[in-house]
Amino acid sequence: GFNCGIVGLPNVGKSTLFNALTKSGIDAENFPFCTIEPNVGIVPMPDPRLDRLAEIVRPQKVLPTTMEFVDIAGLVAGASKGEGLGNQFLANIRETQAIAHVVRCFDNDNVIHVANQIDPRTDIETINLELALADLDTVDRAIQRLTRVVKSGDKDAIATKAILDRIQPHLAEGLPLRSAGLDDDEKRQLKSFGFLTLKPTMYIANVNEDGFEANPYLDVVNEIAAEEGAVVVPVCNQIEAEIAELDEEERAMFLDEMGMEEPGLDRVIRAGYALLGLQTYFTAGVKEVRAWTVRVGATAPEAAGVIHTDFQKGFIRAEVIAYDDFVTLGGEQGAKDAGKWRLEGKDYIVQDGDVIHFRFNV
Ligand code: GDP
Repeated sequence: GFNCGIVGLPNVGKSTLFNALTKSGIDAENFPFCTIEPNVGIVPMPDPRLDRLAEIVRPQKVLPTTMEFVDIAGLVAGASKGEGLGNQFLANIRETQAIAHVVRCFDNDNVIHVANQIDPRTDIETINLELALADLDTVDRAIQRLTRVVKSGDKDAIATKAILDRIQPHLAEGLPLRSAGLDDDEKRQLKSFGFLTLKPTMYIANVNEDGFEANPYLDVVNEIAAEEGAVVVPVCNQIEAEIAELDEEERAMFLDEMGMEEPGLDRVIRAGYALLGLQTYFTAGVKEVRAWTVRVGATAPEAAGVIHTDFQKGFIRAEVIAYDDFVTLGGEQGAKDAGKWRLEGKDYIVQDGDVIHFRFNV
């Protein structure tokens, strides 16, 4: 599955966020193939389009697509040197595909801050430093190993070592690889190393209820993110935790009272999805209307493979209706009548919102 690790210093609101994400959660019985560990939450993608499709098709079942969030607790300064649960923590991050970095942007005298003062810049630098040092460790080992291989004249090894030699000082300064000026080709060559500071990263600014505006802590996070070209999602984890406890009706009332259109959590989930470069397509049958996840740029057979590998292997054609056409034309028949039903081949690049029916050989 696609996942996003939640990192941050202690007491910044990670667990509060994680619990809210999983409570808003999904009936795990619907996903028998997923092993759910205590720190892994399967979170449904909020997508109003699914409800619109269901209104038209009236299926027996409606299933959202999901993504995983992983609560990675235990990072303290010195983790890269094995302090605290350091090594465990770093190994957990290595397995995630993107990083949501929670930053404390709220005052609360009852909640101790590890460094005794709220200072988002230092907090962010502390975490980034640990990640950079972990990557430096990886680089140092790889250089050592490659130094021997390079002597045999191996071209790939020579090229890789040249890049590693170049990024080593950058990491040694505690800077993330995202700011090392690597081009796409170089990033591809480094892929197998699983560098932590090359993972797509977003900042979750955990603010108080009244901290969305005129909040100097939030300003600092925005500033840092702008320097890195990263996304910031301001959210009040405390409120989100409360919202997640409510049933559907109470939730609507609560949001209304707060003047919120949707839970802030939905913004977090969507941002995570975008960070991973993902998009959604739909299948819309009378048995089941369902959302599926593919990466942006996926071909029709790749999208079919998300449902079942046999769909990909035996792929013949995809019957495609764009979401907007499906909805405005009242479903498949209406879309067909209006000439908006397409038969696409194996090179078709799936578009976000496509309603697809696959034809395949078994
Ligand atoms: P973690 O160590 O990063 O997982 O932090 P927790 O989620 O356990 O939160 C630490 C403490 O901060 C808890 O007592 C939370 O209730 C509190 N907290 C979390 N988010 C907020 C928030 O948005 N505002 C306020 N005032 N307190 C919060």
